[in-house]
Amino acid sequence: MRRKLVVGNWKMHGSIAANRTLLEKVVAGVYTCYHADFAVCVPYPYIAQTQILLTGSNVCWGAQNLCSTRDGASTGAVSPAMLTDFGCTHAIIGHSERRNLFHETDDTAAARFNAAREAGLVPIFCMGESAEERESDWTEYIVGRQLDSILRRFGPQALSNAVLAYEPLWAIGSDKAATPEQAQEVHAFIRNRIARCDAKIAQEVRILYGGSVTPANAAQLFAMPDIDGGLIGRASLSAEEFVPICLAANDRCVRSNIHRFEGHDAPIAASA
Ligand code: PEP
Repeated sequence: MRRKLVVGNWKMHGSIAANRTLLEKVVAGVYTCYHADFAVCVPYPYIAQTQILLTGSNVCWGAQNLCSTRDGASTGAVSPAMLTDFGCTHAIIGHSERRNLFHETDDTAAARFNAAREAGLVPIFCMGESAEERESDWTEYIVGRQLDSILRRFGPQALSNAVLAYEPLWAIGSDKAATPEQAQEVHAFIRNRIARCDAKIAQEVRILYGGSVTPANAAQLFAMPDIDGGLIGRASLSAEEFVPICLAANDRCVRSNIHRFEGHDAPIAASA
């Protein structure tokens, strides 16, 4: 069975004071939840502060992007090894805001995905269609193409220590989350497409849903068979919203009899 995973994507939000308050409340809110896994992906300048506040807790931390090269003349870039130096375990790759605002392509996202893996980070690889693409019935074509950018280049094995996230663009930052059924349909499509290459990896890989997840819809989304947790934007900026979403994931694991540490590494955040 797959453990649920809830990841906060803070995007370009935060301040030293606000982060401290938020992270202290999150740590206190989830410290008894050992059936699911939790992480926050914070802006680069706050990774060191996050490491200090989360070390020893059951909340991991990571980044929202990384550079695909190891080092060198890349002004403004951050390498995977710099992230692991600060205890990062996860990195979001190919978020739609990176693809749209910063012109990332399937190719560059795939290269970042591989660089993250090679450095020992868990890439959280984002895929999703726009509203127009959904209306034109292109969802499977778009998501399939994004998934294939990994499968064709690196093979299904590359997903063995990775997380996928289905994030329909029309649901991100809106008040219109996908219904559990809509999300489940695409998650099942993703899993079946992986199964054509490797049935075991398809069964093991965690596929998160992202797009307007709130405490009100989390439990229903997480109850779907192929939804293994959530990638949470706005609601991750408030402990009052993020913690109940984490609790919903933990509760779903308890109900489904998914036990501590089963199938995945121990979730205790690494020490400095
Ligand atoms: C996101 O951008 O990854 C996201 C899921 O945002 P929100 O939860 O705010 O829709």
